[in-house]
Amino acid sequence: MGNDIKCMYFNHKFKDKPQGKQCGWVQKNLTQVNITIENLADALVYGASFKPGVLAGGNKAENWIEQQLFGLDFDNGIRIEEAYNKVISLGIMPCFMYTTFSHEEKHHKFRMIFCNNIIITDGNIRDKLQATLMGIIGGIDEVCFNRDRLFFGGKGHTVLYPNYDIRINAESIIKKYWNDEFEQYISNAKPKSKKKKDRTDAGIKNKTVDTAKERTTYENPNVKAIKEHDIEYLRKALAHDPIEFENKNEFWDYIYSELDIAELIDIDDLKSFCCVLHDDHNPSANIFTTQNGIQKYRCCSENLTLNIKQLIEVLGDFKSEYKAIQFIMNIYNLSIKESQWSIEQRENIDLMISNITLNKFKELCPQADKNIKYAKDTFLMMLSIARNNVYSEKFSNDDGEIVFYVTNKKLSEYLGKDNGQKKIDKVSKYVKMLVYHDLIRILDNDQIPKELLKNALKYTNSNKNRANFYAILSWVIQQLSTIENNGVRWKEKGYRIAGVSFDMFYRSEGFDVAASIYPQYKKKKNEYGEIIDCSTTKASDERTLKISKIILQCIQQKGYCTEKEVVYILGNKYRYEINETQIKRSLNEIMDLYGLKKVKANEALKEQYHIKSEGYPNIIIEDIT
Ligand SMILES: [Zn+2]
Repeated sequence: MGNDIKCMYFNHKFKDKPQGKQCGWVQKNLTQVNITIENLADALVYGASFKPGVLAGGNKAENWIEQQLFGLDFDNGIRIEEAYNKVISLGIMPCFMYTTFSHEEKHHKFRMIFCNNIIITDGNIRDKLQATLMGIIGGIDEVCFNRDRLFFGGKGHTVLYPNYDIRINAESIIKKYWNDEFEQYISNAKPKSKKKKDRTDAGIKNKTVDTAKERTTYENPNVKAIKEHDIEYLRKALAHDPIEFENKNEFWDYIYSELDIAELIDIDDLKSFCCVLHDDHNPSANIFTTQNGIQKYRCCSENLTLNIKQLIEVLGDFKSEYKAIQFIMNIYNLSIKESQWSIEQRENIDLMISNITLNKFKELCPQADKNIKYAKDTFLMMLSIARNNVYSEKFSNDDGEIVFYVTNKKLSEYLGKDNGQKKIDKVSKYVKMLVYHDLIRILDNDQIPKELLKNALKYTNSNKNRANFYAILSWVIQQLSTIENNGVRWKEKGYRIAGVSFDMFYRSEGFDVAASIYPQYKKKKNEYGEIIDCSTTKASDERTLKISKIILQCIQQKGYCTEKEVVYILGNKYRYEINETQIKRSLNEIMDLYGLKKVKANEALKEQYHIKSEGYPNIIIEDIT
């Protein structure tokens, strides 16, 4: 498969970060190239430079013509593995990552590069994708937004998390994650911008000093309390009734559309007031509501637009998003009904994700790890889907495991593959491989929580595009050994991903194993065309044993047993426990088990068994042939 992409590239390998004149030299020497993603990645970790956007007739943003690669610049202290886990949990897979020249162990600085499944030629889509990626991942240097953004390489000499074939899907990412607030990245990048970010930071620091020393301007008590993280004061001032939300989505909806910024910072005239973020003498701030009903704080002199959470982050100088959210919950008396269960489940999945991505799984289950080498993306994607499905115990199975559903088509779409049937088939084979290893478990309809089944049926009505239900089992020590044993067996049996099918497993390991991977085969038809369930429960095993005794006795006594007789005897004996269908089902099992067969009696058979009755009944006899 061709991994060639187009970008602006300069092959000079710097040993250190280019400075001053060197930067201009790089700009001048960037040329449009077709390069494989592997080669680009390898060059970048040795100091080459590139621009993801393809420019023609100049090297400014207005010269942008198309783009397939997208880069994010992390320099705010988030750690590499943390950022990687975050994007994975969002279901977005980077092609590779690399550390920049100024990366240090104690302060990670790195880039994450994505490749879209198609070349984007519409600048608006390009901007929207870039803004969406920046917005949902967070903690990204805003200057990397620009269409003409230049990325220097680094000196790490190692490509991180290479996954060159993986693609993102701009359309579905935007559809899934676009949020009006991300508009700020786009509007901030318009030509008039002037290093606003640095100024804001500096402004806040100066202000704190001012406050401590000789602040003369009036500071309203609410703003002061936010700056000083004075929860007690704000709780009283805002006097918000407590609310408990079912899940995070509800919580965020409320925060953005219901909370009142003007009330929070105690402003009367929404249209014009002195900015609370900088030393403002002419009113340059206002509060407005977007079309989607989200309140925004706007400072015209700093060219800054913030939602309530961001405003609190800036005002309170919060260094962690988590702390800012906790603060909001505290001052407004809000909580999210998150059970210990859902927290645990999410942590379990996070652990799996980091075990896989940090190559620890290799130590835990070496053979399984080898087997699933190419199925890892699929596995990570399924983990991320499961993670997003942790709402409440309602959606778990009897063992308390997270249950989720996805169609193979959707899965392949999320993985950024195009929608060709071949790709979908490949993904579905990877899934079966994961199921074989018991990394995920595929569920039969009767194992699916009813609520979830209802939801799923809404989305998939055609059988062809059927949603499969899966459970994720947590990696306790026993489970890890099961996984590894399965891995060893996979190897011993000489399975190949291309051969994955019901037949392959059936021939080599029998019906039960095959049916556990393809639960739809559990229901097979008997000789009358009746659907019978081949999965057995313990209770039905015992019942079958009892029933078979009666039949065998009959046959011993007179050589045969009529079907009617069986139904009659069993119906009497088990009247309260089983019905006729179940008897018939058991009967099939029993005949299989004891080498019996059911035939329609003819004259010869009637004579042989001394059957006196009228007609030609169905009889059960030993299958001698
Ligand atoms: Zn301002």
